[in-house]
Amino acid sequence: MNIFDSHCHLDDRSYAGELGDIVNNARASEVYGMMTVGVNLKSSKAAVDIANRYSGCYASVGVHPHDVKRLNEEILDSLLSLAQNAKVKAWGEIGLDFNRMFSPRKDQEHWFARQLETAESLGTPVILHERDSGGRLLEILETHFKPGMTGVVHCFSGTHSELKAYLDMGLYIGVTGVVTLKKRGGPLRKMIADIPDQRLLIETDAPYLTPAPEKNRYRRNEPAFVRSVLYKIAEIRQTPPEQLSELLWHNTCRLFNIPAEEPLNQPSVISKIRL
Ligand SMILES: [Zn+2]
Ligand SMILES: [Zn+2]
Repeated sequence: MNIFDSHCHLDDRSYAGELGDIVNNARASEVYGMMTVGVNLKSSKAAVDIANRYSGCYASVGVHPHDVKRLNEEILDSLLSLAQNAKVKAWGEIGLDFNRMFSPRKDQEHWFARQLETAESLGTPVILHERDSGGRLLEILETHFKPGMTGVVHCFSGTHSELKAYLDMGLYIGVTGVVTLKKRGGPLRKMIADIPDQRLLIETDAPYLTPAPEKNRYRRNEPAFVRSVLYKIAEIRQTPPEQLSELLWHNTCRLFNIPAEEPLNQPSVISKIRL
């Protein structure tokens, strides 16, 4: 199988010194594609660096709603030049998080709209983060997610009507290990069948959100465990995992404009490119 983890944070400090092992674990679980996602300038630089070191790893650059209180136009310019790197395939993660409110609401809304404009100017797909925005994310998308743009709502945790609205906009839906959790995953499992084949992605959001059954043994999530998300969805959709992984691999490559036939399942090549 070829499995793609469409959203992880390989620059997280919990992986320090172990990244080679983490990538090898992923490959041993047939996870040959990984999108490592930036949340601010520092992590975006680290994501690009990691993507340049490991085949099958790609990067996104952008500023998470938690971090936008420190964003300014100069930092945005630095991200724009970082996005010129060939391994950068998306802008994100960007969006609104009114659950924790680490950045003021007006900053979150301003920089979300601004980064959508930036992604549009680059022609790059967006990785969207939404938590408890009460429909506000959709309102901003209605004015700023222009025709021709594409993207994914990662770690989807919305309602049925939000799901429908995202699908109507042409967005992909990213499903995490939450789907494997007995209690917390209940509402999400009910919506899995309503996501069209061509719009579904799987992700870990590692190091967070460890799926079951790994959750009982490991606190830290990693891309290898996306396999458990694949198997759970295969069970819900009554599809063979091999067939589902093939579909999801192509979906992920289509969204991020990565050649689906790129030989990713090869030993890691340590490139000399350093940023
Ligand atoms: Zn997120
Ligand atoms: Zn994330």
